Amino acid sequence: MKFKIGDTVKITIGKDKGREGKIERVIPKKNTVVVPEVNMYKKHVKGSHGQKGGMYDIPRPLNLAKIALICPNCKKQTRIGTNIVKGIKLRTCKKCKKQI
Ligand SMILES: [Zn+2]
Repeated sequence: MKFKIGDTVKITIGKDKGREGKIERVIPKKNTVVVPEVNMYKKHVKGSHGQKGGMYDIPRPLNLAKIALICPNCKKQTRIGTNIVKGIKLRTCKKCKKQI
């Protein structure tokens, strides 16, 4: 998984194209991430057990193919490169070459 919680990403495909947000959750098994306020959908929740029902906006996981990382150093949309230094995988920005 190249993306981590807290990464700022830009949506590159779909109805939320161009929007930016921070990754809140990573689901490696599905290759998806959750970004608050992005890819929202309405979910109807039935009230039960004293809980209030109604319509809720819930962010739907985004496939990694639909997002691009915004580099925290150069603030540009970039691809993630990996460098292995002494057996430790480091992420680097392909544009400014800095470690992310
Ligand atoms: Zn950069």
